[in-house]
Amino acid sequence: MVKNRFIGAHVSAAGGVENAPVNAAQIGANAFALFTKNQRQWVAKPLTEESISAFKYQVKKLGFSFDHILPHDSYLINLGHPDTAGIEKSRAAFLDEMQRCELLGLRLLNFHPGSHLNQISESVCLRRIADSINMVLDKTEGVTAVIENTAGQGSNVGYKFEHLAEIIHGVEDKSRVGVCIDTCHAYTAGYDIATAEGYDLTWRQFDEIIGADYLKGVHLNDSKKPLASHVDRHDSLGKGLMGSAVFSRLIGDDRFENIPVILETPNPGLWAEEIVWLRKQVEN
Ligand SMILES: [Zn+2]
Ligand SMILES: [Zn+2]
Repeated sequence: MVKNRFIGAHVSAAGGVENAPVNAAQIGANAFALFTKNQRQWVAKPLTEESISAFKYQVKKLGFSFDHILPHDSYLINLGHPDTAGIEKSRAAFLDEMQRCELLGLRLLNFHPGSHLNQISESVCLRRIADSINMVLDKTEGVTAVIENTAGQGSNVGYKFEHLAEIIHGVEDKSRVGVCIDTCHAYTAGYDIATAEGYDLTWRQFDEIIGADYLKGVHLNDSKKPLASHVDRHDSLGKGLMGSAVFSRLIGDDRFENIPVILETPNPGLWAEEIVWLRKQVEN
């Protein structure tokens, strides 16, 4: 039986969100990620009607499903910000991101949980993140908040499965919260998914601590930095310290059957090749 996999990359949306599906199709992807606004600015112009309908048209024409598109929010947003002004600004920006997804017909929004900035404890920060998610879910419909695990760089929370579970625990509507696992972040956070035993152990822990049903997406990245280094530097598949066996194992794993599998590897020129290689591994 042929296994279905939905593989793509975080493609450019320069010139308008409607260009993202076109860019994804060009690299042979059947899934993709994008920013729906400039990720380095707090405020963006609202999406135009033309842009929204062109995006939906391209998604359908090129054969993508809205279930396999995993937009990412701005890097500026910190939903666990320790002070009032900081968190209000982040919550407003996150609400805007969610509403952009609603308008585009998107069903998932991927984000990094947040940072305590050495001013509050990890548990207080996790509680603030859950509260932020609750506020935004209350004001929107149909979009799931997808929390990404982190490498634990600086004061970022989310580097342990327990952190992600604690955030989910604080979210009222469990049907609209999920998790995206980034392989580079997991590895540099200390989960040794590069070995066969470490891979099995990590996913067993995922199921026990978070719950298999919460998995909504995967970022496939190799790592330039070693296991448990807590430094986030992506590498192209098989070119970093993780080796290629983990990616071959993962793409053949039925756990990833119906979710977007997204490359955030540093060389866009290799994406088409990386996708072909991954598809070959599924058949093996
Ligand atoms: Zn990622
Ligand atoms: Zn990263």
